[in-house]
Amino acid sequence: MAEQRERIQDIAHLGRVELLTPKPNESLWYFRDVLGMEVVHAQGQSVYLRGYGDYAAATVKLTEAKNAGVGCISWRAASAQALERRAKAIDATGLGLGWNESDFGRGRSYRFRDPDGHLMEVYYEENKYVAPEELRSTLKNLPQKYTGRGVNVRRIDHLALLAKDVAANRTFAQDLLGFQLREQVRYNNGATEIGSWLSPSPVHHSVAYVADIKGGSGRLHHFSLWVDNREDVLRAATVITEAGVFIEAGPSMHNNSQGFYLYTYEPGGNRVEVYSSSFLVMAPDWEPVTWNEEERGTGTYWGAALPESFIQYATPNVEGDAAGKTPEFPVFF
Ligand code: FE
Repeated sequence: MAEQRERIQDIAHLGRVELLTPKPNESLWYFRDVLGMEVVHAQGQSVYLRGYGDYAAATVKLTEAKNAGVGCISWRAASAQALERRAKAIDATGLGLGWNESDFGRGRSYRFRDPDGHLMEVYYEENKYVAPEELRSTLKNLPQKYTGRGVNVRRIDHLALLAKDVAANRTFAQDLLGFQLREQVRYNNGATEIGSWLSPSPVHHSVAYVADIKGGSGRLHHFSLWVDNREDVLRAATVITEAGVFIEAGPSMHNNSQGFYLYTYEPGGNRVEVYSSSFLVMAPDWEPVTWNEEERGTGTYWGAALPESFIQYATPNVEGDAAGKTPEFPVFF
């Protein structure tokens, strides 16, 4: 067996995602009333929310902005020492932006950009959520009661980010953040890296990097929230349809990650996935699974193919083909 470098395990999990929205009131309605998240705080142009199963005070930050897209992506370090180690290592790459003051519910963070320009940070200190009386669960091990409002998502799950150079961002996530590569899509006999799915924890993927066919930078393909089972995804389709929100794809099942999915656009324009049934990866010596063009197909295990908009649209939106040419290959992920 080939000798492997010991994997860095300084990042524990995806902690918080900031979404930018040009329609803050409508986006807040979507996350609070349709997805069923709780509002815990408001500050400046931002509102902080959480899923009922999230242990942290806040896991989603909605911030008013001119264009839709992803703001800061926050990763929780495994310890205070791990945070210092990651800050030092990232600083040495030249991608570091420096230390940032504490945000709501947690301590200071070290900010940086991934090679594609997505804003990220690592932090350690975090306030655990303490439910007010009316939101206290009768279950001692549940941070907040299941309210049954809307889709009632349990927790945040993952992000899919677009990148001009998937390999550069995948390598950064592996080498600097210590993420384990779980699955890949490679075309042209493996020469073209279309997408890579990675995670610092047993969650199948916390981040996916997929080729930006329009040559944009720092763009978001989708943000995903977890429900406990497939029936919840089907129920979400009904709840979301009754709310008059556009469903782009699903409910259906992906081939890689085995995720059961439903994609909608929140009113600000960001694509949001309601997700379940993916598998956990426990193996420390996990061998990444690679899919070629034929095996990958349309990205679905069964059900309808993903629509053209799934390939063409991301936030912030780029009109036409920014690179001035049509892509050589269809990108399904
Ligand atoms: Fe996803």
